Amino acid sequence: MKAVAIKRGQGQEKAAGFQEIGTVRCDGCGEEFFIGHDPAFVDKWLADRQAHWLETVLAEEHERGKKHSDRIELPE
Ligand SMILES: [Zn+2]
Repeated sequence: MKAVAIKRGQGQEKAAGFQEIGTVRCDGCGEEFFIGHDPAFVDKWLADRQAHWLETVLAEEHERGKKHSDRIELPE
């Protein structure tokens, strides 16, 4: 796994091994997720696309009344 989104305030141990490359704030509840890449595969362009994908996923979870996960795997 090379890319994850991790909810802020969950403790640094969940972010271990990942380099932060972006942040996504959920419009529905204001929770923030940071996007982390494997330090060997940091890709800003990909992170921007993943941020957009994550915004959509978070909005869908609100529509379905589903809670956000603390950790979300991102597509490559
Ligand atoms: Zn939300």
